[in-house]
Amino acid sequence: MSSTLRFQVVGKAFSKKPIMVPNCTERPSEFFAKYVFTRQKMLKYLPAKVYKKMCDVIDNGTTLDMQTADAVAEGMKTWAMELGATHCTHWFQPLTEGTAEKHDGFVEHDWKGGMVEEFTGKELVQQEPDASSFPSGGIRSTFEARGYSAWDPASPVFVIDDTLMIPTVFISYTGEALDYKAPLKKAIKAVDQAATAVSRYFYRDVRKVVSNLGWEQEYFLVDEGLFATRPDLLMTGRTLMGHDSAKNQQMDDHYFGSIPQRVAMFMKDLERKALELGIPCKTRHNEVAPNQFELAPIYEETNLAVDHNMLLMSLMKRVARKHGFRCLLHEKPFAGINGSGKHCNWSLATDTGIQLHGPGKTPLDNLRFITFVVETLMAVYKHDGLLKASIISASNAHRLGANEAPPAIISSFLGKQLSDVLLKLEDTDDSELFNLSGKQSLSLDIPQIPELLLDNTDRNRTSPFAFTGNRFEFRAVGAQANCAAAMIVLNTAVAEALTNFKARVDKLVEGGMDTMKAIVKIVREDIKTCKPIHFEGNGYSDEWKEEAARRGLDVETSAPLILDNYVSPSSIEMFTRMRVLSEAELRARLEIKDVTYYKRIQIEARIFGDLCLNHIIPVATRYQSQLIDNVHKVKEIFPEETAQKLSANNLSLIQQISEHSSFITEYAEKLTDARRIANKLEDEREKAIAYHDTVAPLMDLIRYHIDKLELIVDDELWPLPKYREMLFIR
Ligand code: ADP
Ligand code: MG
Repeated sequence: MSSTLRFQVVGKAFSKKPIMVPNCTERPSEFFAKYVFTRQKMLKYLPAKVYKKMCDVIDNGTTLDMQTADAVAEGMKTWAMELGATHCTHWFQPLTEGTAEKHDGFVEHDWKGGMVEEFTGKELVQQEPDASSFPSGGIRSTFEARGYSAWDPASPVFVIDDTLMIPTVFISYTGEALDYKAPLKKAIKAVDQAATAVSRYFYRDVRKVVSNLGWEQEYFLVDEGLFATRPDLLMTGRTLMGHDSAKNQQMDDHYFGSIPQRVAMFMKDLERKALELGIPCKTRHNEVAPNQFELAPIYEETNLAVDHNMLLMSLMKRVARKHGFRCLLHEKPFAGINGSGKHCNWSLATDTGIQLHGPGKTPLDNLRFITFVVETLMAVYKHDGLLKASIISASNAHRLGANEAPPAIISSFLGKQLSDVLLKLEDTDDSELFNLSGKQSLSLDIPQIPELLLDNTDRNRTSPFAFTGNRFEFRAVGAQANCAAAMIVLNTAVAEALTNFKARVDKLVEGGMDTMKAIVKIVREDIKTCKPIHFEGNGYSDEWKEEAARRGLDVETSAPLILDNYVSPSSIEMFTRMRVLSEAELRARLEIKDVTYYKRIQIEARIFGDLCLNHIIPVATRYQSQLIDNVHKVKEIFPEETAQKLSANNLSLIQQISEHSSFITEYAEKLTDARRIANKLEDEREKAIAYHDTVAPLMDLIRYHIDKLELIVDDELWPLPKYREMLFIR
């Protein structure tokens, strides 16, 4: 594309009038969940008996009989048709990261020459999508393509446009999970059981523990016109080349700055639609990098929060286009400026309203608080490599370890107050912790914890797993990832830690020890054990890398090797014991992750090669010819000595272009060779390793020279929109 055309595109796109969102006077409380089949709507559209049964299914996980399912389907259909729905779909989360759906109309023959709208319990509860094109990691070969999707009543159905969307799990005919939701629900159940049992040491009336998740979604917006002229953005979601803009985020003037009008319009529109779909949007702001923004809802139960995040991501992409933008969810769309993550704020709470990761007023509350914090640290300590595996991907690998994102080593920051409390607890001996007082034969004297631990000042942005007052914030999750992957690991690991904790406490109690004393004893042991994961310092520093290795933490940085943690003995043991994933399912998951990893790099490398040879080199050559031409002409006009002086700069440019161009051409060939060799490998893991070790580094090497050429070649000729053009929405 010529530069003139490039600027036409820019001009056109930038001059586009913002789409006005009707300045509505309706309050969010009035339109919230308008398109969701909430309990309120169930009450209205279902017979009383059916409503009661459904509540039991949702709250207590009892099974649904077909008769009830039929009645529920009938009520849902009536409600959905009033909103204009004509179709329904099972909506699931295959291991490809996005969501999948296949729409079926409500219509059926009435056998009198006409049609009727029908929707049965059977269609609601279970469907059999042709599953052969979804990744299964070898669990389900194509000739036995059967997989089925089954309704998850815990996540309410909703209507988008003309379709009733039914959240479902997706499993193979032989029962193995082929999605994220099935194991996530099992992990949530495991942590519920383990945490309920431990909570009962402190509060007898606890019946259930809920896992809560509040994600913060970061994203970039770019102008649609510019996006369309960048084949790399279009095909891979990131720019594979592009020199830094002279101004980017050095001035820190974007973060929390005022939101550009066009973007504000987009946000309003997006939030309205999200609220109507029951996503409790709360916070919006500019992020650190230019054109980077964030949306965060109020936290919800983890299963629902994950569904809402998946829904929001697809909504963002659609609404962005309406406003002349493209929404980039890639973790690192632009080099040299911040990437995008999805911080996952996670905590446990009882059905009686107690935040288990939050301090309380009494010594008992505080011992409970410390127990849950320490056992969470135990989980993170034991499975740091697996947690890293749950968030690593070809795209997130560009973000991790860079100086603005979580480091590639999992550690936990607790803040000064909590660190001091743990230290004191570890050092003080038993006799000082307990004293006899009043009626209670035993009272605890653990250090007082101020209720205002929830202060925002005590923060460490370099920590991937930070305690923030009454929850942990897992910051390493990537912007476009399904956060279920991380939540499956975290909840299962904490379930395991709490189960182990309880077993050890019970053993002491059986041996005659007082329960509280036994708890304190085990907590103190665990504070010592998990110490290596606790780190208050600068996670970006080189000293930390060395220190972490000394502490025995997982310091691996190669994505395919990190992924191996899915099938490490401790992972297999944990997942099978907690009944979340079988060994076969884990091996399948690993294979899918490896394949996804190298395929992404494969696509990037192909597009990169094409851009080098068909876009960059021809333009560089054309500009070089112009310079050569100029040198000749100058020579014709001026005496030799003057000509030489006048052409010195151009001669140097000609030489630089030659050097960069020959490097690019030579290495583009090497890139193709590296791909060819990698593609020949049979084993998926070996292939992923080869792509990581040999293909990806070549692209980095070549990019350096392309970015240099961008600075040299006439701006008029340069074929791709530049960072400075893409990154500043006006
Ligand atoms: P910050 O950017 O300061 O980390 P945000 O306000 O952007 O904070 O996001 C914090 C997220 O954490 C929100 O989604 C919020 O609902 C969620 N959150 C708050 N308390 C809890 C909790 N106890 N458990 C889980 N998530 C929580
Ligand atoms: Mg945040």
